[in-house]
Amino acid sequence: MTTPAADASGRGGPSAGSGARAGSGARAGSGLIAGHDPVSSTLETDVNLQWLGHATVLLDLPGLRLMTDPFLRDRLGPLRRHGPLPRSGAIGAVDVVVISHAHPDHFDRASLRAIGGNPLVIIPRGLGGRVGRIGLRAREVSVGERVTIGPDWTITAVPARHWRWPSAPRAAAIGYLIEGPGRAGIYFAGDTSPFKAMRDFASRVDVALLPVGAWGPHVSPGHLTPRSAAQVASDLGARVAVPIHWGTLYPPGLERWFGGRLTEPAARFTEWAGRFSPATEVRALEIGGATRIDLQANPTKP
Ligand SMILES: [Zn+2]
Repeated sequence: MTTPAADASGRGGPSAGSGARAGSGARAGSGLIAGHDPVSSTLETDVNLQWLGHATVLLDLPGLRLMTDPFLRDRLGPLRRHGPLPRSGAIGAVDVVVISHAHPDHFDRASLRAIGGNPLVIIPRGLGGRVGRIGLRAREVSVGERVTIGPDWTITAVPARHWRWPSAPRAAAIGYLIEGPGRAGIYFAGDTSPFKAMRDFASRVDVALLPVGAWGPHVSPGHLTPRSAAQVASDLGARVAVPIHWGTLYPPGLERWFGGRLTEPAARFTEWAGRFSPATEVRALEIGGATRIDLQANPTKP
């Protein structure tokens, strides 16, 4: 099933982005997060990628501005945000938001409200009504379903292996593949543990956004560790991997006791990836950090 959602929003052209779109004219200090200016995009095959903390990634693609699992607040219950928040109002218009699952660090309606524009929210089947109630457009998907955005982009729901809290809504945890014309895709894993069926879509993955940490010193079942995430990068044959879901949310003071486990998962992932997946280029970012990736014109994998 498809929908011309981005077109319907009246935006979607490569030059029709918001004021916060990464551009060569960005002034020093004008980025979303103080001290972290976006990287300017010059090529039609570039993606500007900015990690806004936890599982929140802003992808500036040619003709599509997409955000994953927005969490844009300074706290969540007993958890505190470590690292800077985006400047108020600085995110600007986003075309599409993808939500991986219903856990509150991934599906946060207050954060959705803070996003500019009128984004289409792609979300696991069963959760769309909660998006509609805050006045945003929702598109529910199950594994295997695909949403077409404008002429160029497709977003496909792929499986994830993750647990559901007993009181949480009955909606599956999923991941997403974001694919442009003739290009290998960007994989956003959501929250997951490793699973065999990842290999079914490995040939479509060029860039992998992989969770490598958690809220505390111990990574619970249903998540990837720095080591298992490196194995996943290898299984996928990812050309580029960006470690996310680490170092952002944890109780205050915990780093005094478990500093490295909270603040070093990306460094540990980089080490493990060097062993398990030496062909993968790891782009480890600070919260707010940005990088530009030239997407491969064609998948080079079998
Ligand atoms: Zn979760």
